[in-house]
Amino acid sequence: MSRIAFRPEHVRFKHRARVAVELAVKKRILEKPDLCERCNLPQEPCRDGRSRIQAHHHAGYDQPLNIRWLCVKCHAAEEPPLPLKTHCPVGHEYTPENTYISPSRQIDRRCRECARIRDRVRQPFRKVKNVS
Ligand SMILES: [Zn+2]
Ligand SMILES: [Zn+2]
Repeated sequence: MSRIAFRPEHVRFKHRARVAVELAVKKRILEKPDLCERCNLPQEPCRDGRSRIQAHHHAGYDQPLNIRWLCVKCHAAEEPPLPLKTHCPVGHEYTPENTYISPSRQIDRRCRECARIRDRVRQPFRKVKNVS
């Protein structure tokens, strides 16, 4: 099985997901525990003071805050996260042309085709309004 993990896009999302977790911890949206969620063993911090607990993106890097906190050992033993979704919930492919990435959050992918369909549904109402 060829892994998608080495595709540059995946690397970009991996980096963004890490940054998103760091930010969420800073803002206290997420709390970094001292215990590993898998082995339940308390983890002494490294000599440089950094925690040995790492965020594991089990659901994929496009869900940056959907994580488990694991020690380094357990993290290495876990299955790698799911590859990025290739299609939107309705089934349109996330091609570069069809993908809108929010410039502020850099990780939310929106399907442009879905946005177009939503616009098309709204259009008739607008036209009726203009005529009257
Ligand atoms: Zn562990
Ligand atoms: Zn779509």
